[in-house]
Amino acid sequence: MKIAVIGSINRDYTAQVKKLPEKGETVIASNYNISLGGKGANQAVAAKRLGADVYMIGAVGNFDNGEDIVKKLKEEGIDISGILYTDEVTGNAMITIDESGFNTIVVYPGANSKLDSFWIERHSKIIEEADFVILQLEIPLETVETAVKLSKKYNVKVILNPAPACQLPDDLYRYIDIITPNEVELAHLTGTTDVKKGAMKLVEKGVKKVIVTLGEKGSYYTDGYEEIFSEAISVNSIDSTAAGDSFNAALAVALGEDMDIKSTLRFANIVGALTTTKIGAQDSLPYREEVEKLRIKLGE
Ligand code: ADP
Repeated sequence: MKIAVIGSINRDYTAQVKKLPEKGETVIASNYNISLGGKGANQAVAAKRLGADVYMIGAVGNFDNGEDIVKKLKEEGIDISGILYTDEVTGNAMITIDESGFNTIVVYPGANSKLDSFWIERHSKIIEEADFVILQLEIPLETVETAVKLSKKYNVKVILNPAPACQLPDDLYRYIDIITPNEVELAHLTGTTDVKKGAMKLVEKGVKKVIVTLGEKGSYYTDGYEEIFSEAISVNSIDSTAAGDSFNAALAVALGEDMDIKSTLRFANIVGALTTTKIGAQDSLPYREEVEKLRIKLGE
């Protein structure tokens, strides 16, 4: 199964602190590391580790060793022929995580903002040959629109992870097969904090399926007719970074393997939960083997 991920590639600068700083406060970190991140790159690596053939379309900086980051993607086994090298710095994220695993993140898009529609059209073959295209919102919205519409032209299924929260043009919804907001993003898109009502609003706008990730509560699905609430898997969570990213990758992988929707949600919940048991973004993305082990343990 082929998955094309179109999205951000970042360097993550992660500091671990006892307590997140208040406005104007300085706190001392107990640990610090630099790693590959960005919702796009995270979802690409997650999908690859779960067993898919993955093609990444994204952008990095030319003059700040962006190729080091691309090398990491290549080492994971991801096809990197769709990577654009730009004169901007590679996108970066400053992440702070407290003792209970809560985080704050500041992102500077850098090269990600240079990923344009022209580049997408130039790499339309990657989209055409994919079974699923996964997108997020850390690249220009116009680029997302082009990619979504191109995917539909080729009849390729589109999963849009509307993160970080931002308003979407009304005419985009009907091209989306699955939209995957978390509760905050859903409220932003629909103006309601009621998950069921919010999800219904997205269906009414034309999205075929809505899956809301609910953190430690699990996930909620509706296509306007059927509703499924899939309970979270109980694990020892220490860092929720990239849980949403691995969840999205897992959705595509499970659907690509023809799992029914209930099993798909369960599979994605397991992958999301496992991601919270380790610190970091890429470091915490589980391999298929670990997922299958937990599935067996859970009696699946
Ligand atoms: P995001 O990172 O995009 O905000 P969520 O926090 O909703 O996304 O997490 C995505 C998925 O990961 C959830 O739907 C759930 O399946 C799983 N998950 C997240 N946090 C936990 C947790 N504390 N315990 C178990 N599963 C979790």
